[in-house]
Amino acid sequence: FRRNPGEIEFHQAVVEVFDTLEPVLRKHPEFAEAAILERICEPERQIIFRVPWVDDKGQVQINRGFRVEFNSALGPFKGGLRFHPSVYLGIVKFLGFEQIFKNALTGMPIGGGKGGSDFDPRGKSDAEVMRFCQSFMTELYRHIGEYTDVPAGDIGVGGREIGYLFGQYKRITNRYESGVLTGKGVSWGGSLVRPEATGYGVVLFVDEMLKTRGLNLEGQRVIVSGSGNVAINAIAKAQSLGANVVACSDSQGYVVDEAGIDVDLLREIKEVERGRMTDYAKRRGNAVSYVAGGSIWDAGAAVALPCATQNELNDDDARTLIESGLIAVAEGANMPCTPKAIEMFQSAGVLFGPGKAANAGGVATSALEMQQNASRDSWSFEHTERRLTEIMVNIHDRCAATAEEYGAPGNYVVGANINGFVKVADAMLAQGVI
Ligand code: NDP
Repeated sequence: FRRNPGEIEFHQAVVEVFDTLEPVLRKHPEFAEAAILERICEPERQIIFRVPWVDDKGQVQINRGFRVEFNSALGPFKGGLRFHPSVYLGIVKFLGFEQIFKNALTGMPIGGGKGGSDFDPRGKSDAEVMRFCQSFMTELYRHIGEYTDVPAGDIGVGGREIGYLFGQYKRITNRYESGVLTGKGVSWGGSLVRPEATGYGVVLFVDEMLKTRGLNLEGQRVIVSGSGNVAINAIAKAQSLGANVVACSDSQGYVVDEAGIDVDLLREIKEVERGRMTDYAKRRGNAVSYVAGGSIWDAGAAVALPCATQNELNDDDARTLIESGLIAVAEGANMPCTPKAIEMFQSAGVLFGPGKAANAGGVATSALEMQQNASRDSWSFEHTERRLTEIMVNIHDRCAATAEEYGAPGNYVVGANINGFVKVADAMLAQGVI
């Protein structure tokens, strides 16, 4: 804590993992002897840089850019870039730390990293976003590469931004290095299913958890928070499995649509028009209710999928949800549930899938994109989706088996943390004190 003052989200993420590791350290004293815990929470490299750009009025704007290369024991650093005004070092480090274990859990050869900027893409023109991305990459390019560090998208970074970033990388380096970024457009090195992968994966994971109780999603009342990439694709997948998704949100409010969210309309508004939930409410008219501010979890559900941002679901929300008959929660976002909320879910017997496991489908499909780039191949939607499904089922089963092995059956938090940690710790041990 003294080494990293003020980085509250990073502290929260480290405590959450370390709290579950005691049985591992008892079983593997060699990890403590090699100071694995001390090393694993110290990033291998942290880069902070100035991002100057010129807005449409001709005024110079300055943002701060970050890339935290956290751990490369299993492969090149891998993790998204977040563009959001709330981004500072503590957020990037929490995300990078989580990413180490998530990536290990996928079983793919990828290390952990994360980056981003306090740039706010909201309300900016395409030309402004492009100039910002070009300036950001003008510094970032020297730190990344197919064998070094492979960024992707996250909040505020979708296909448009990855396109501008890739264009600038190619221009500066004079290399068509497809494997340097993931989340690319399908016609220029991207993978089918990558845009859908995180949201689809969350739903596949929750479905696996429900199966352990002889249940499924058919007819279940579901709330998905957020209305970005992860949320929209989670809604689509849950609906395809027969769920009734009744609510979704943005940072200003939420909509309750008892007939089921119209996902095509939502996609049109969010992805094409770059509009807000208020626009969705207007278009649906009297059929829906819009609540400005407030908590989406007040709508009550059997299955809750928080897919917006960190710490968006607290203990009050957990209480409301449990009272409404909650069965399962899977984290589409990173660390969306507060520690107190998780504790309440677990003591109430609610199935709880932590983000490290439940939202790993996105990065796993990014690793599939890297495989396709390396072999100069592109796979069909069906083939790629089958791979994603296998990966999510494996992650679920590995978490469940590890939880059982370490005396905490049904505790996916313990299962995910320990399974990911042991894999990384073993590799760090083998690679010596570096
Ligand atoms: P998007 O930018 O596409 O969407 C983010 C959504 O969350 C928007 O609806 C946004 O609303 C809302 N949101 C963002 N910040 C806040 C906030 N501070 N308070 C309330 N709502 C907020 O991002 P993604 O869908 O890609 O990411 C969502 C979450 O999923 C993040 O936690 C991300 O780290 C995680 N994730 C994403 C992966 C991916 O593949 N994209 C992979 C794994 C995890 P508004 O428009 O009003 O800001």
